Amino acid sequence: MLNDLFNLTGQTAVVTGAGRGIGEGIAKVLAAAGASVICAARRVDEIQRVAAEINAAGGSAKACATDVTDLDSVNQLAKFACDETGGLHMWVNNAGGSPVQKPLHLLDKEEWDRTLALNLTAVWHCTRVAAETMDEGRILNISSLAAEDVIPGSGHYSAAKAGVNMLTKTFAQELGPRIRVNCIMPGAVPTEIMMQALNLKDEDLPKLESMLRLPAGRLGKPEDLGAAALFLLAPASAWITGQNIRVSGGP
Ligand code: NAD
Repeated sequence: MLNDLFNLTGQTAVVTGAGRGIGEGIAKVLAAAGASVICAARRVDEIQRVAAEINAAGGSAKACATDVTDLDSVNQLAKFACDETGGLHMWVNNAGGSPVQKPLHLLDKEEWDRTLALNLTAVWHCTRVAAETMDEGRILNISSLAAEDVIPGSGHYSAAKAGVNMLTKTFAQELGPRIRVNCIMPGAVPTEIMMQALNLKDEDLPKLESMLRLPAGRLGKPEDLGAAALFLLAPASAWITGQNIRVSGGP
């Protein structure tokens, strides 16, 4: 019974932004639970590496070059998933981030538009495509603690991620019971985009860790988010939908 709660055998999951960082962590945990994973991102070498590592570990994965801000590219991704594996059951909207830190009143329109396109509009469009493609399934969004907490210099990113939280609740209501939709708000996970956004080097991480004083005692790892994603996509969470959940090593 315990195995069935977390078993994804015979099911296909698309994970956007699966070339590194949190997306890589999610793709690997879902594959370990038996899912066929489609790793989607723009950088082909990165998604091919992740897919190859999953296959070498005994799982099943394929890479599909995708730009989530390009509507045609997302349509092709959904078609690729179905053609290659025979169906689509899970979709993780993980691609996102913003390397730019600037007060809102100084932010230029191009950066605002770019941030909204990647972090909000793409999630809306991907979810529409996933919902049209699936018979029944689950969708998982990755927003951020920034959706709820003020981070000076990240207002554009916060606004987009807060929008994702509301997309989660609305899509869950509109697509249920056919499709469950949930969202994880990660805390600090040292990945390429986080290090860039906060202008950090590896040697700065112990200082950040002690400054945050997280009750869990450490910064996050991609596999921490993978474990939470597995729960929200697996039968174990069958009665949970429309929820934005903080996964952050603390409150
Ligand atoms: P990352 O930079 O390590 O990985 C981002 C992935 O998204 C890469 O594979 C990249 O190629 C892909 N990507 C970027 N733009 C894309 C596009 N247009 N189309 C397709 N793929 C694209 O970042 P990460 O830290 O793993 O972030 C993953 C998600 O988690 C993001 O949505 C981010 O906002 C969110 N998040 C991260 C943190 C953190 O501390 N790392 C905290 C809160 C939220």
